[in-house]
Amino acid sequence: MKIAVIPGDGIGNEIIVQGKKVLETVAHKYNFDFEYEDVLLGGSALDRKGTPLPKETVEICKSSEAVLLGAVGGPKWDKLPSNLRPEAGLLGIRKALGVFANLRPAILFPELISSSNLKAEVLGGGLNIMIVRELIGGAYFGEKNTIDIKGGQKAWDTISYSSFEIDRIARKSFEIARKRNKRLTLVDKANVLESSKLWRKVVEKIAAEYEDVEVNYMYVDNAAMQLIRDPKQFDVILTENMFGDILSDEASMLTGSLGMLPSASVRGDSFGLYEPVHGSAPDIAGQDKANPIGTIMSVAMMLKYSFNMEIPAENIKDAISKVLKGGYRTLDIAVEGAKTVGTEEMGNLIIKNI
Ligand code: NAD
Repeated sequence: MKIAVIPGDGIGNEIIVQGKKVLETVAHKYNFDFEYEDVLLGGSALDRKGTPLPKETVEICKSSEAVLLGAVGGPKWDKLPSNLRPEAGLLGIRKALGVFANLRPAILFPELISSSNLKAEVLGGGLNIMIVRELIGGAYFGEKNTIDIKGGQKAWDTISYSSFEIDRIARKSFEIARKRNKRLTLVDKANVLESSKLWRKVVEKIAAEYEDVEVNYMYVDNAAMQLIRDPKQFDVILTENMFGDILSDEASMLTGSLGMLPSASVRGDSFGLYEPVHGSAPDIAGQDKANPIGTIMSVAMMLKYSFNMEIPAENIKDAISKVLKGGYRTLDIAVEGAKTVGTEEMGNLIIKNI
């Protein structure tokens, strides 16, 4: 089984090492073999190959069963035109691989309740929300431009979705909801946006085929508030690209830290692109401070979704739970009295518990 590995930039390099170590440990324990191929993306690709998305990166990813990605970006490349920025590589690889559904579970380990910004009674002993974000359409990919006009400039980005794009991700979300608590919330802005009205129309139609799933519709501004007021009301949240980007970062704070959240970007088959939700965190890069758990949880998602290996995936989650129970914390989730550890040691502790 071939896995393309993209460390990327900043803390991407540190967390990927830990993710790979965990993969190797479960491979050894459960007797299977992974073949890895490291590829460049983002700022590091730009520096070495002159483009944030080299052709061979796309080819190697396409010929792999799964891709494990760290993060890209950093201040060094911030002033470049959009097509050369590291983020162009990230958006480009997602598009090239056709991974239209980004699954972002926001899971609060009971051990981290005190790290969450919300009161324990609002969190009710834990949290498990699945945010399904459309990944290769909407404002990030729509027609955009900046032009000079009299006395200044004008810029626009277009949110455009076809019923086909909505249909395929809505079906995926209903299937996911069916295997969970059978509740789905479509988050949109159908009171003002045409694209949102289409999302509602398509989802309402598909809902008739999934009568066992309870559906409700919520405007994105209300959803942002409800996530803080009463996050336990949510099971599966389905939403378009930009709303999903923002809401999943918000949800991350319910779980203690952005560093805890994994994601899987999938299409209809077993292929997937797995990456933590956070970025390259230039403020802590190279200091052994990054939390590797989001990446290690992404590895668990890879085992489950691409390789159908539920038991090793559960083994990883249990190991993380044990380490947290033991009081070990990276800085971002540290509380008073915690045993603070660095990126490397957190990886080692998880491995020891697998
Ligand atoms: P960020 O997610 O990199 O960091 C936000 C904050 O969270 C920072 O304070 C950072 O230190 C902290 N943080 C993030 N991950 C952490 C971890 N694993 N452990 C501990 N703390 C962690 O977001 P940003 O600062 O807005 O962006 C930095 C760069 O990353 C930018 O260039 C941005 O474009 C890029 N970015 C990349 C991705 C991606 O590769 N998927 C996603 C978001 C942002």
